[in-house]
Amino acid sequence: MDFKTLCNIIKYAFKFIGNWRTAHRLKTYMTIQEWFEKRKEAQIQRRQMESRVDTEDFAADLWTKCVHCEAQITKKELEENMMVCPLCDYHFRINARERIQQLFDKDSFEELFKEIKPTDPLNFVDTVSYADRLEKAHAKTGLDEAVITGIAEIEGHKVATAVMDFDFMGGSMGSVVGEKVTRIIEEAIKRRLPVLAITSSGGARMQESALSLMQMAKTSCAVSRLDEAGLLYINLLTEPTFGGITASFGMLGDIIIAEQGARIGFAGRRVIEQTIRQKLPADFQTAEYLLKYGQVDLVSKRADLRKNLASILAMHEV
Ligand SMILES: [Zn+2]
Repeated sequence: MDFKTLCNIIKYAFKFIGNWRTAHRLKTYMTIQEWFEKRKEAQIQRRQMESRVDTEDFAADLWTKCVHCEAQITKKELEENMMVCPLCDYHFRINARERIQQLFDKDSFEELFKEIKPTDPLNFVDTVSYADRLEKAHAKTGLDEAVITGIAEIEGHKVATAVMDFDFMGGSMGSVVGEKVTRIIEEAIKRRLPVLAITSSGGARMQESALSLMQMAKTSCAVSRLDEAGLLYINLLTEPTFGGITASFGMLGDIIIAEQGARIGFAGRRVIEQTIRQKLPADFQTAEYLLKYGQVDLVSKRADLRKNLASILAMHEV
């Protein structure tokens, strides 16, 4: 190795060490700076996020918007008003448990036929399998099926009841709904009790195909046997009652009551409009429209339901 080469090696070595030290010093210096800045930034962001989440949760817990008049109302106010908007009187849809709590005497409801659970006899799969849909509906509602059946009291008057839940697969009627409705009617015949069917449903359950449609005949036959036994049958139609329910046990009552604002029909409005190629009136398929044309006997506000049902039951007890 000659002197010139040695000098070059030393020069490059120093240059490398110099670069490395500068880079390292710079890196260390920037990192500390960045670390402080980033920590500060993260703290600010975290605080902002926490306060926003707190505010959102807090607000979401306390307030809700009326779907009809769009007014902001507190959830407490809405619950105290039986889930009816205090400003525009819009009746929010309620689930079966809420209905039972609102309508029947406290702790009077005794559930029957809870043990009947749905199966998937056709192994039906559309975009999702029927078994998965049932599981999801159970997770959402805590129910095994779209109807709760049992014996309860309204202002001391005993009644056998079937309460449908729209949140469970659109309140659709499969084999289990049909079976439970039939059994509660048979139980009422055995115990000589009136029956109150509270409906909220989109119709038959397509995942059970013909088995679901057969429930229309089965429940209608049960209602006919109730009639032969001389017992009172009351329908309470709530938002929404459609399809196979209105075509079977939903409209066979001796007395048919509709809750204010409920939509009731067989086929949906759009399907009818497309078929007859005519525009339907704005109030078509509402409880009030049905009353006007004699399809229901009474339209009741939610707040008056207990009183109205109790007086009907009292009248028929004699
Ligand atoms: Zn409102």
